[in-house]
Amino acid sequence: MSLLIKNIFPILGAQYVGNDPEAIIDTVSIDSRSLQNGAHTLFFALAGPNNDAHFFVKDLIANGVCNFVVSHIPEGCADQANFLVVEDTLHALQQFAAYYRSLFNFPVIGLTGSNGKTIVKEWLNFLLSPDFNVIRSPKSYNSQVGVPLSVIAINEKHNLGLFEAGISTIAEMEKLEKIIRPSIGILTNIGSSHDEGFVNLEEKIKEKLLLFKHTPVLIYQKNDLVDKYVAPGTKAFTWSFVDETVDVFVFKKEVANQGSKLYYKYKGNSQEFTIPFQDQASLENAISCLMAMLYFEYDTATIQSRMALLFPVEMRLKVKNGINNCTLIDDSYSSDFQSLKIALDFLESQKQYQKKTVILSDIFQSGLSNEELYSKVSKLIVSNNINRVIGIGKTISAFKEQFTNCITFEDTAQFISSFESLDFANETILIKGARSFQFEEIVYLLEEKTHETVLEINLNAISYNLNFFKSKLKPNVKLMVMVKAFGYGSGGLEIAKLLEHHKIDYLGVAFADEGISLKNGGIQLPIMVLNPENTSFSAIIQHQLEPEIYSLKGLHAFLKIAKQKNLKHFPIHIKLDTGMHRLGFEENVIDELIAALKGEEAVEVRSILSHMATSDDLKHYDFAVSQIELFDKVSSKIMKELAITPIRHILNTSGISNFPDFQFDMVRLGIGLYGVSNDAAEQKYLENVGTLKSVISQIRTVPVGQSVGYGRRFVAQRPTTVATIPIGYADGVSRAWGNGVGFVTIKDKKASILGSICMDMMMVDVTEIDCTEGDAVVVFGESPTVSEIAHKLHTIPYEILTSISQRVKRVFYR
Ligand SMILES: *Cc1c(COP(=O)(O)O)cnc(C)c1O
Repeated sequence: MSLLIKNIFPILGAQYVGNDPEAIIDTVSIDSRSLQNGAHTLFFALAGPNNDAHFFVKDLIANGVCNFVVSHIPEGCADQANFLVVEDTLHALQQFAAYYRSLFNFPVIGLTGSNGKTIVKEWLNFLLSPDFNVIRSPKSYNSQVGVPLSVIAINEKHNLGLFEAGISTIAEMEKLEKIIRPSIGILTNIGSSHDEGFVNLEEKIKEKLLLFKHTPVLIYQKNDLVDKYVAPGTKAFTWSFVDETVDVFVFKKEVANQGSKLYYKYKGNSQEFTIPFQDQASLENAISCLMAMLYFEYDTATIQSRMALLFPVEMRLKVKNGINNCTLIDDSYSSDFQSLKIALDFLESQKQYQKKTVILSDIFQSGLSNEELYSKVSKLIVSNNINRVIGIGKTISAFKEQFTNCITFEDTAQFISSFESLDFANETILIKGARSFQFEEIVYLLEEKTHETVLEINLNAISYNLNFFKSKLKPNVKLMVMVKAFGYGSGGLEIAKLLEHHKIDYLGVAFADEGISLKNGGIQLPIMVLNPENTSFSAIIQHQLEPEIYSLKGLHAFLKIAKQKNLKHFPIHIKLDTGMHRLGFEENVIDELIAALKGEEAVEVRSILSHMATSDDLKHYDFAVSQIELFDKVSSKIMKELAITPIRHILNTSGISNFPDFQFDMVRLGIGLYGVSNDAAEQKYLENVGTLKSVISQIRTVPVGQSVGYGRRFVAQRPTTVATIPIGYADGVSRAWGNGVGFVTIKDKKASILGSICMDMMMVDVTEIDCTEGDAVVVFGESPTVSEIAHKLHTIPYEILTSISQRVKRVFYR
């Protein structure tokens, strides 16, 4: 892309305020954290309900970004950059993308549907890319923001586009239609009427088909409802398992070794092909791909040979623990320029070490000449401050000179034989390669070897839950997030990093050592320590942590050290006991507290807080209100007598939900972030964050009368198929969950726990489940949920979450 600012503002109908209308734009960004932002970036300051990028404009200018699309010019920024002022920056981004799309005129396949669109897109990319320079949406970038960004990545060399569109409510598709303008449409599986935000199936189909309003050809599985809403100017190209009148009639499917064989009739001829999958969804997705290949007039032999090589699509970037304290970002299934950019941004957001390494294969289908491509890749690597590049493949080896501190290998096998000499340690490593390079072998080598039980943490779900609670806050109310107990068992540092990116105001931990490890991990947010022991005060000061002070004894001890160290205005937090009777100053010592703080320069009361005993249970509503009233009264008195205006806060997660009028200046979010609500109605709006997973180690059949496990507490009443899972009470699964009380989920089915849970293992009943050794087992997550387990075990979700042992590896993904 190369556009002049002066040519862009008429397109957006923007008011131009700036001094360099001749500025050249070569990329577009919405991510203020991306290291790829530069002088030729056009930054669209999007404003959501919770995050407003206008807030970052000043920092971006300081980092050399000169061109912005904004809805208002942030304070202190006028005259410092080019501003295109519009009413709605998201709308402007969409307009810009639609304009940019109109500059190109090659076939574009638009995909929508309820299921399968990302898979069909990735498969089509694989099937068609030997013959086309394909530009496609990266991962599942299919939203109101993702689609424009995908389209803006088109360049002059591309000659086929694959873009997916996802919508959740009505009126969204029309906007995406203008941006994608498909010349060929594919409607994938449409799902049931219950999912997504539509009243019924008909409305959903009608809305989805708006993507194809001006599309000459539409591929879909024959269906009367779809027929009814296909635009009059669109030619249907249909397939079916049952209706012989369609263009492609799939008349037989049979199980072939490790896969399926499909027989179809097209233009009077019967043909067949095989795919390495057996499930119904994969069959339908493969047929969608077949239709596109037939439309492009591929011959049967090519279809057969390529279809046989279809692969499972990995849709997310995974963060894993590596050997020697490394952190791995596993993106070992694709290599194209666009997804490299995304992976590098992700690397930056996840890096735990200053040192960053990228292991990169040859890049395919860029549409550019190799010279141009690798010079662009090199620029990208430089702008992301990558310390070393390990290139694998003949082409990247030939362009080794483009990179500094680069070592290359002809192929993966050569890399593996030199592995020991590469000394991977204390660094974050992005592993990014095309499928054919089999980088999964590299990931395997670099991955820390532990047993197969992991707690998977969905970082997107955390962001989602955070935004859910943020949206409940009144303007200017600050947010503290509690990451005590290792982030409620989910992983402290990783979650703190994510929260820092989301610009929350404070972190809260229980003990000083938790805060110290966050600070050592590079966290810069202020951190309040709830339970500072007097012995830790020195360490607290040294690491710039902020103690909660809850007694006169503690205050005097802290003041003593603060004075020894000549501190001035060191931030402290005053905790009031208003009825919880755990920690805090009671009302009767407040005068003494005030006296001790009056005129004291060594410390500064940054906040005053209290904690509620019953915010989750409206049965105690009156008591809760009495706590809040006492808090207001006592804190007001302190503020008045000391003439200070600290941050006041009392609400935890349930408080945010149940006492919205008492947010004061800040709230303290805890369990809600991790996807658990104490309120069943609210639970529906939260996303599950943690999934405790394991695998089946062994399967056997136990005859009638035989027993399973210690103490023979389960005796088979029927021949029982028993699977052994390598997770036990030492991993944090309560023994009370055994003996038929609890269950795990295997292949979406419940398998009840047989007999007693052992220290490192448990046995479950899989008699009714078609499974094999090595299959995945969910111990908690979507089902059973943590709340469900807590309820049956007469405890609370907090205890279930925080009981998971540290020996269980945490794996983060988004
Ligand atoms: C743990 C804790 C919170 C958060 O509580 P949730 O119920 O998890 O939201 C808030 N404040 C204090 C003082 C806490 O100890």
